[in-house]
Amino acid sequence: MADTKYVYTFGDGKADGNTTQKALLGGKGANLAEMSRIGLPVPAGFTITTEVCTAFYKNDRTFPAELADQVNAAIKNAEDVMGKKYGDPENPLLLSCRSGARESMPGMMDTVLNIGINEEVVQALIKQSGNEHFAWDSYRRLIQMYGDVVLGLKPEDKNDPDHFEDILEKAREAVGAEHESDLSVEALRQIVVDFKAVIKNEAGIDFPEDPMEQLWGCIGAVFGSWMNDRAMVYRRQYGIPHSWGTATNVQAMVFGNLGDECATGVGLTRNCSDGTPGFCGDYLINAQGEDVVAGTRTPKRVEETLHIDKPEAFEQLTNIGKTLEQHYKDVQDIEFTVENGKVWMLQTRNAKRTGFAAVRIAVDLVNEGLIDSKTALEKRRIPADDLNQLLQPIFDAADKKKAEGDNRLLAKGINAGPGAATGQIVFHASDAEEKWNADNDLQLVLVRKETSPEDLRGMKVANGILTAFGGASSHAALVSRQMGKTCVCGCDALNIDYEAGTVTVGDIVLKEGDWMSIDGFSGEVFTGKIETSPSEVMEVLTGNKKPEESEVFQRYAQLMAWADEHRTLNVRANTESHDAEVSIQLGAEGVGLCRTEHMFFDHLDEMREMIFATAKADREAALAKLINFQRDDFTHLFRTMGDKAVTVRLLDPPLHEFLSEHHMHEDPALAGKLASTFGVTEDDVKRRVAELVESNPMLGHRGCRLGIVYPEITAMQARAILEAACALKKEGIECHPEIMIPLAGYKAEVDNQTAIIKDTAAKVFEEQGLTIDFMTGTMIEIPRAALTAGEIAETAEFFSFGTNDLTQTGLGISRDDYKGFIGYYTENDIMPADPFQTVDQTGIGRLMKIAVADGRETRPELKIGICGEHGGDPKSVYFCHEIGLNYVSCSPRRIPIARLAAAQAAVEAG
Ligand code: PEP
Ligand code: MG
Repeated sequence: MADTKYVYTFGDGKADGNTTQKALLGGKGANLAEMSRIGLPVPAGFTITTEVCTAFYKNDRTFPAELADQVNAAIKNAEDVMGKKYGDPENPLLLSCRSGARESMPGMMDTVLNIGINEEVVQALIKQSGNEHFAWDSYRRLIQMYGDVVLGLKPEDKNDPDHFEDILEKAREAVGAEHESDLSVEALRQIVVDFKAVIKNEAGIDFPEDPMEQLWGCIGAVFGSWMNDRAMVYRRQYGIPHSWGTATNVQAMVFGNLGDECATGVGLTRNCSDGTPGFCGDYLINAQGEDVVAGTRTPKRVEETLHIDKPEAFEQLTNIGKTLEQHYKDVQDIEFTVENGKVWMLQTRNAKRTGFAAVRIAVDLVNEGLIDSKTALEKRRIPADDLNQLLQPIFDAADKKKAEGDNRLLAKGINAGPGAATGQIVFHASDAEEKWNADNDLQLVLVRKETSPEDLRGMKVANGILTAFGGASSHAALVSRQMGKTCVCGCDALNIDYEAGTVTVGDIVLKEGDWMSIDGFSGEVFTGKIETSPSEVMEVLTGNKKPEESEVFQRYAQLMAWADEHRTLNVRANTESHDAEVSIQLGAEGVGLCRTEHMFFDHLDEMREMIFATAKADREAALAKLINFQRDDFTHLFRTMGDKAVTVRLLDPPLHEFLSEHHMHEDPALAGKLASTFGVTEDDVKRRVAELVESNPMLGHRGCRLGIVYPEITAMQARAILEAACALKKEGIECHPEIMIPLAGYKAEVDNQTAIIKDTAAKVFEEQGLTIDFMTGTMIEIPRAALTAGEIAETAEFFSFGTNDLTQTGLGISRDDYKGFIGYYTENDIMPADPFQTVDQTGIGRLMKIAVADGRETRPELKIGICGEHGGDPKSVYFCHEIGLNYVSCSPRRIPIARLAAAQAAVEAG
């Protein structure tokens, strides 16, 4: 039997693999193969498959036996293509070793460059290049990366010593040099000696002279980096399975640091902050790739100066950019090196982009004829959650103007991630995380010299990220954009002193904890707080701005129109009166959940009278007052929604949410007020309040259990709903109320409440002399309801999944008390995600599937929706589409996200 193919070669216009093989070759490997196939200049090399990664972890970090021979053959192929020999003392080929997972995980795993240099090879490099500085600098970089990555010497904590960096810093200080490129050859030679001593002292071994030993060390380290902490955190954040593994790419080195005819850079075929067409990127002359992404030197902009510095390279690059977009039909994120005037491609991938850029690029590509509207909706192009960025607050224009007028503009950097962030300064990601964990209301801006992938956790909790160095394409800028964080980078006016805990610009000194505001659209940095105001899209939707004044809105509207064309799921809003209008503007096709108790919070006195009453007559007297408020509220809601369906849920929470000791404590006059209304003593009031206390309120006297024990509450609510509908019908507005029974688990409960509603309806219709087209149905939020859905559907005309309670009761986890362990659970892969945000498809999802199947078996036309928080979560929306729901209902701001997610689900299903 033939050996498994573990190694795929590429280069010289040929390749074993192609772009469709991302699962096996990782994104980088598959695209290096593809670029080679389409004739782009790619240094020769090979990809070791993700299957090797899986085998590596399965077999205690050892490689399959056949791998060595395949690697040797692939090195030979690269040597032939490049006309050099690995480890050769005359004409040496150097190699790089890079990770490459199926989905890109920028900066999370490891890379080693210049592999294959030893004492002999360095001499050959000097001879060949005629550039001693280059040769020794390449050598010292190899030893440093080998030490950091292969031998694990990179400090994990900010306080641990970084021996390599300390040596470099001393060498720079000794001659007043800013960068290593300014050091003398002698200094670099000494650094090589010192670095080797670090390896001997810290790792207890000699730096390996044998190039093959170096290479295998690097391959092992790159596969090993799949399981490092930051890679695991990143995968959890983006739902990438740990089981995928990474591929490893070994590739001939080309050099951007051979002299001034050389350069290295990263670029985007369009701007990925705002989507503006045109190639853009960062480059450094006479440098190696890591210098650009590490952010230690502030690079130049391709679109600003490369055509002057290197006109031929600029032309090659622009043409390559066009070829790539035509071929991949999407914006590309590339890495390139210019070696003596020739551009080499080291990577291409579909670019990460902000929500703003995602929408613009998708709409532009359709208009340019590269893709159709269905393709534009793909979730990889516009992750539905990223629409949030268009709906997010921006700085209040007047307050920002005032800040400018007050001379609070501190500095300007690169606008790497749009949005507006205001918060207190924190200098270390770990501190940000610690402070935020102690107080979730804290608003923080993370201020760093440069950000690095280790900062991921701190970036997650900060409102915004500000850096002194690094370009818009540095890894950390990519990550913050992807998170939708406001980010300003490369703000070189900032003088940051971590030890003193200060950031200084001129004579202004800000300390940790001081307020600062950053504008991710313009790159401006201000001292102090700036008020934020709604997004441009929201401004138009709420009528404060005209559509023709906002291109952002026009593109948003175009995209939403395409989404609406393709989706089959309806999208409704969870809203009571005040948000109803804005819900329609955001695209709501009805109300999926009107929580009537929210309406009662405005009429607490009457509600408390109702609750306090122990005699039916007293309760009815209080209800007679409440019905007027309810009718008014429903009238307003129905009028706003017109002929759109509105699901009104009967009273759900336990009564002590309206009257408890806590309320008596807050309002010392309350007991007296109730006592005088009912002609009882304050002690009687206290006794009644004590009776209402429950030790596990979410499982007590709530939901339909209230309406069953106090049928007059249900009758009052049904009457208010139907009288409001009748009044509107008289005005010519046909509304369609759907009256929903909460927290039922038994058919008998649904029967009981439905009978009261229907009985009330008959009376109202007779009194009013007309009828209303209404439905009665139930929430499915108790596992028993899901399991007996077939019976329940005999009575219920619709179901709505209350996945908040269904998750709570199905998992036996209190929705209000899980913060203490959920972080630990998701970080340790006990649960893949927070089940209150994303439906637990295996467990709760199974209950939902049973309810859908059994419910529709009884009543084929059964209308089914979801109104738990999951209704606005894209992954849960995909699931709802898959199991055949009619609609999802979510909070108003998430409606556009749900519309797009619903379209994506439909497009993906074909
Ligand atoms: C639910 O339980 O999912 C639901 C929508 O109801 P509430 O959140 O009001 O309990
Ligand atoms: Mg509920």
